[in-house]
Amino acid sequence: MNFFSSKSSIIMTSVLVVLALLCVILGVTAIGGNNKYKDLESQLEQKNFENSQMSDKLSSAEQENESLKSSVSDLESQNNSLTEENSNLQSQNSSLKQENSALKVKPTSSKNNTGTSQNNSTPTEKGKVCYLTFDDGPSNNTLKIIDILAEYNAKATFFVVGSGKTQYIKNIHEAGHAVGLHANVHDYKTIYASEEAFLADLNKISATVESYTGQKSMLTRFPGGSSNTASDFNPGIMSRLTKLLPSMGYSYFDWNVDSTDASAAKMATSTIVNSVIDGAKNKRVICVLFHDAAGKTTTVQALPQILKSLSDMGFEFKALTTESNGFHHGVRN
Ligand SMILES: [Zn+2]
Repeated sequence: MNFFSSKSSIIMTSVLVVLALLCVILGVTAIGGNNKYKDLESQLEQKNFENSQMSDKLSSAEQENESLKSSVSDLESQNNSLTEENSNLQSQNSSLKQENSALKVKPTSSKNNTGTSQNNSTPTEKGKVCYLTFDDGPSNNTLKIIDILAEYNAKATFFVVGSGKTQYIKNIHEAGHAVGLHANVHDYKTIYASEEAFLADLNKISATVESYTGQKSMLTRFPGGSSNTASDFNPGIMSRLTKLLPSMGYSYFDWNVDSTDASAAKMATSTIVNSVIDGAKNKRVICVLFHDAAGKTTTVQALPQILKSLSDMGFEFKALTTESNGFHHGVRN
C-alpha cells in the first residue's frame, strides 16, 4: 500500500508541476499578447490621427481647387470682355483715322485768311464728309450725273475706263470733279496677268486722262477693288500691286459704302437708295461706290434722293485727293 501511495504521490506531484508550468507558459503568452494588442491599438490610433489629418488637408485642397476654378472662370470672362473692348477700340481707331485724314484734306483757300496763322474753323472741319465715286465711265449717263451733282453743289470722283465715252472726261474735269484711273481695258485676265501688264494698262488710261485734263491723275481704283479675288489666277498680284502703286506716288481707293448698283444688271432704284443710306449710318466719313456704265440708269434715278438724304444727315460732298483716306479693304490675294 505504501508503495502505491508513494508512487501515486510522485505522479500527483509531477502532474502538479506540469500544470504549474503550463500556467506559467499561458500567463506569459497572455501578457505578451496583451502587449502586442496594445501596440496595434496605438498604431491604429496613430493611423486614425494621420488619416484625419490627411482628410483635413484633402478638404482644404478641394476648397483651394474650387476657388482656383472660379478665379480661372473670372479671368476667362475678363479676357473675353477685354478682347471685345479691344476689337471695339480697333474699329473706333480706324474710323477716327479716316475722319482725321478727311479733316486734313486741303486747307480751304486763304481768301478769308485773317492774317494770323490760325486756321479758321470751317463747317467742313466739323461736318461729315461723303466721297461719291463712279466707276466704269464715262458713259451716256455721265452728263446727267454731272447735272444732278451740280444741283446739290456736290463734288465727286470718276474712276474712268479707256473703253468709255472718254470725251466726257473733259466735262467731268471742268465741272470740278476729280478724275481717277480705273483701267484702260476692264479685263481681269489682262490687267492682273503681271505687274508689267497692269502698269502698261494704267499708263494708257493715264495718258488718255491727261490728254483731256492737262493733268496727270494719281488717283486709282483697282478693278474689283484691292480685295478682289478675280485675280487669284496670279497668286499674290494684289499684294504686290498695293505696294507698288503707292511707291510710284499713286493713291489707290476702295470704298466703305456700296450702293450695290453692280449687284445685278439693273438694281431697283429704291434698293440703291436704301443701301447707301443704311451704309452711311453711324459713319462720319464715307466713300460710296457707284457705277457710271451705260446700263446703270437706276443709279442716275437714285442719285437725287441719295444726295438729299445724305445732305440731311450732315454730309458734305467732296472729290477725293491724294491726301484722302484710301478706305482700303485689305488684300485677299
Ligand atoms: Zn470697274
